[in-house]
Amino acid sequence: MKFIDEVTIIVTSGDGGSGCVSFRREKFVPKGGPDGGDGGKGGDVIFKASSQKRTLYDFHFRRNFKAEKGGYGRGKCQTGKNGQDLIIEIPPGTLVKEVDSETVIKDFDNDEELVVAKGGRGGKGNKWFTSATYQAPKFAQPGEKGQTLTLKFELKLIADAGIIGLPNAGKSTLISVMTAARPKIADYPFTTLYPNLGVVQTSWNEPYTLADIPGIIEGAHEGLGLGLQFLRHIERTKLLVHVIDASEIDINDPLAFYNTINHELSEYSQSLSEKPQIIVLNKIDITDAKDKAELLKSLLNDKEVFLISAATNNGIEDLKQKIGKLLKDLDEKQHY
Ligand code: GDP
Ligand code: MG
Repeated sequence: MKFIDEVTIIVTSGDGGSGCVSFRREKFVPKGGPDGGDGGKGGDVIFKASSQKRTLYDFHFRRNFKAEKGGYGRGKCQTGKNGQDLIIEIPPGTLVKEVDSETVIKDFDNDEELVVAKGGRGGKGNKWFTSATYQAPKFAQPGEKGQTLTLKFELKLIADAGIIGLPNAGKSTLISVMTAARPKIADYPFTTLYPNLGVVQTSWNEPYTLADIPGIIEGAHEGLGLGLQFLRHIERTKLLVHVIDASEIDINDPLAFYNTINHELSEYSQSLSEKPQIIVLNKIDITDAKDKAELLKSLLNDKEVFLISAATNNGIEDLKQKIGKLLKDLDEKQHY
């Protein structure tokens, strides 16, 4: 199962600023002593794990990071400004390794932070280099160079939201229209042997991950089909997207599909059945499916229900935004 996101980035801490060569110049003091100040320290590169970040997505587009240089020392013993530290936020659970040596630098838990590349020391100004025999040093120390490190991030992805539903409901189709994942789509059950994971981009929010979790059929909790393995995975998601083929709803028993899946979930674990669910009634492009969907929706009036067609893209954008919003609300709730 490819559930690991990996990316290599290059970080460079700031160079220290150079020390300054300068001599006092005062009106009635013909030969002033050296007064060159020290250079400022270069900025550190700091990694900080933040639950606001869920994926390594951004790092696939920007790979070079540099902290600010320290300022030059100046005359009148003025020290240069310290370079600003660069704080890079990463998702909790990110394992950071040095690429060349394969050394593990750290496995980051939420809110943990670490200076991964220290900024260079500022160079000493010429005021430090006087001695009994040498009163007018015309040199100062250069700033220490920043460090450059090539680092690999590895993040075991746990989908933020899992798509569940009976075979043929349209789960693979849905993930393919919502994300860049390209699962196989076909007319028979168990097309997708492993969960497919995709990243959903929303215009206003942190991207989130969505997994297509196939194999939930009656008896999944007893290990039928590929059920058990996937039930384990969805146990770690925050939200379930429950897809139902609206064209197949039986008007004499509209809740049948819905109940089958929820029965499987609760048989497997209580916590799973209590996970927030969004109900997605799919295939409303098919004749009568929309009416059937409305019927089922009216029976689920206390739930979040979306009518969509994954085939025609109808309702997909709203669904994307809604999932993003719910995940954000759930994250915020966790913090208080
Ligand atoms: P899964 O088993 O839940 O992953 O279902 P798939 O995504 O493989 O879809 C099963 C079948 O339903 C495929 O033939 C899809 O083309 C079809 N399908 C999926 N979504 C829609 C839809 O919105 N409208 C129609 N008409 N067909 C769909
Ligand atoms: Mg599928």
